[in-house]
Amino acid sequence: MSAAKFEQIGQALREHQRFAVLSHVRPDGDALGSQLAAGMSLRKLGKDVRIWNEEGMLEKYSFLPNSDLLTKPPAEPEDFDVILALDTAIQNRLGNTVAAIKSAKVWINIDHHPSNPGYGDLVYINPHAPATGEILFELIKSQNLPIDRAIAENLYVAISTDTGSFQYPNTTARTFEIAAELVRIGVDVGAVSQLTYENYPRRRVELLRDLLGTMRFDANDRVASFSLSLAFAKRLGVLPEDNEGLIDHLRAIHGVVVAIFLEELADGKVRVSMRSKSDKVNVCAICEKFGGGGHVLAAGARVKGTLAEVEKKILEETCDVLSRLS
Ligand code: AMP
Ligand code: MN
Ligand code: MN
Repeated sequence: MSAAKFEQIGQALREHQRFAVLSHVRPDGDALGSQLAAGMSLRKLGKDVRIWNEEGMLEKYSFLPNSDLLTKPPAEPEDFDVILALDTAIQNRLGNTVAAIKSAKVWINIDHHPSNPGYGDLVYINPHAPATGEILFELIKSQNLPIDRAIAENLYVAISTDTGSFQYPNTTARTFEIAAELVRIGVDVGAVSQLTYENYPRRRVELLRDLLGTMRFDANDRVASFSLSLAFAKRLGVLPEDNEGLIDHLRAIHGVVVAIFLEELADGKVRVSMRSKSDKVNVCAICEKFGGGGHVLAAGARVKGTLAEVEKKILEETCDVLSRLS
């Protein structure tokens, strides 16, 4: 099934000329690494490629090879043959990049979110793949698309970040095989890991200190949560990208089954981030009740209301799910 689909996608990539490579708002390492890897491979094929993200390149991922190829979308819309949407569970999470597309002949949707409804003309969704970067590697290999050290490094960061450095249960033998191939192509694991995980700005740790001050436990200590108000974020001068991964400090606590991070946004909504340590607790299902989505063990939503209101609703729903467990 994947061989035939890869063949179709490969053909579309070979036969068209103008491409836009897009991914989700609030991008993570998988989104940005996948976008750059796909865009660079297409450029090596001689294609005209735009690589756009609503946020542009994040400061903390600006070490990615050829990171300057990824920009914010322009104000003036452009015509394309193919739009490549990567790692994006629902189309509206492509944000304002869609407004920069005047026309497109084919939409290709490549993703690993089980909640992806399959928008687009050519769709490949593999919910078992731990990262979109892993799917792209398989596509590149099966279709003999160009790959070099810079592309490999982007794919490595995509896979490393979405697997929690090869620790989450989505990590398979195949993931390690792919990582090994990427290392053989030239990825320097030590250097890339240091740039990815040991290069945070001081304000991120100061943010963690404040977040831990709001930490609370519910459902007999099986639910841990903390929250970030706009006022806190402003006082510390933090960027939205600074909080990626801080939820792992809650997940890492003995006995905690669900970790929750709530972030007040400027638009009257709260960004909810959830992690589960048990496949009996599907946080994607909880987030879907609030209009969000994601994976069984990692999901999110944007919920209208004040921090206190959303916190109450999410905690009630989560505690309810846990009370039905045993
Ligand atoms: P995060 O907690 O932001 O790292 O997101 C965890 C997972 O949930 C990622 O795979 C996201 O793609 C997904 N996700 C986060 N926010 C949303 C949302 N508002 N709607 C749908 N999926 C989301
Ligand atoms: Mn992502
Ligand atoms: Mn991903």
